[in-house]
Amino acid sequence: MGDDGSDPGERALREAYQALLRDVGLDLPFDDHRPKELPNPWSDGAFDPKAAKELIRYEHGVRGYHDWQSVGTEPRADFMMRLATVKQRSLPYLGDGLPSFQKVLDSQMAEIRYWLEHQGKALPCAVFAGLYPTGQLNARAVPVAGAGVLLLVNVGLMDMIFMLLKTNLAMPARGDDRPPLLTRERAEMVVAEIFNAYVYGEGSLGAWYLPRLPAEREQPLGFVLRRAEQFVLCHEIAHVALGHVSPDGAAKRHVLGDYSPQQEADADRFAIELLSTAHADHPQRDKIGSYLAGAVMVFFTIANVAQALQQALNMPQAKAESHPALPVRSQNAADQLRSAFPLDNLLGRAATFDNWLRRSMPKAIEWIVLVNTTMHRPSPWD
Ligand SMILES: [Zn+2]
Repeated sequence: MGDDGSDPGERALREAYQALLRDVGLDLPFDDHRPKELPNPWSDGAFDPKAAKELIRYEHGVRGYHDWQSVGTEPRADFMMRLATVKQRSLPYLGDGLPSFQKVLDSQMAEIRYWLEHQGKALPCAVFAGLYPTGQLNARAVPVAGAGVLLLVNVGLMDMIFMLLKTNLAMPARGDDRPPLLTRERAEMVVAEIFNAYVYGEGSLGAWYLPRLPAEREQPLGFVLRRAEQFVLCHEIAHVALGHVSPDGAAKRHVLGDYSPQQEADADRFAIELLSTAHADHPQRDKIGSYLAGAVMVFFTIANVAQALQQALNMPQAKAESHPALPVRSQNAADQLRSAFPLDNLLGRAATFDNWLRRSMPKAIEWIVLVNTTMHRPSPWD
């Protein structure tokens, strides 16, 4: 163990990860804080692209949704302009957010390591999970010879899952007669913005943050979000544990040909077993079981609609993604969860989320296509 409690392999992986980040212009000990004063891109009489980027970032900090009444109510042209300019923001726009997102990931990994240890599932080598603009929903495994395996997790994933869950929780709930925080139409705009940020924003933060939810609606959100992200991590760790990827082997992405369908099925099974066993003796087993099952199924729902969206937009990655059998994977996951937590209506909440998101997608796609066909999406400035 090193001074910071991590083992030498893990420290070597963290260093390899930081080198990868530097290569794409990102930095973990990020110095580039959001400007406190309004930058002027024309201050020297000539256009300064760096100041212009800072201006967008400044605006991101001061503008945004301050309450639920304002969400999805801005003028149509402003909304579309915002979606169209997402691609302009080049990588460093994650800015101040990167170190804190990475801390969240570190704590999720610490919990997973604890489960692995207590369930006697030793890993054959060190692993380290780091945020990276992978542009893919599933993480990427990068072997580092002599050290272990780096798991690169899409920087946009946490935001996407978080904001989709939040939007869903702001919708009218059955049996709740209070006025909803969002109408269906405004929620569809938010969904469009979230997916627009995911498919065009790459490493940058593209969607405006949503206001906080009232406490009673927010309560399950933190747990479900954390477990949904941990499912992605556990699936990746399973590929290492099961020997599908090794420190002296090739890097593996979730693209056609890197993992076989059987390996994918085995990785899902390993991940769900790890998560289910970790909660098997929980004092509120039933409640926690349904939240956990919801978290896993939420990931599959989002993966399904993201794939359908990329196909609808004719994006090249739609063809390259290695999960042609997502419905099969999600069916198997549901069966495994039901046998781990045999409860009535275990997946009821997950089905509600699934129905809502699928129903929202046609309109969200319509918004994105409208932006693509009527507005210019410029390439990054540098
Ligand atoms: Zn996989």
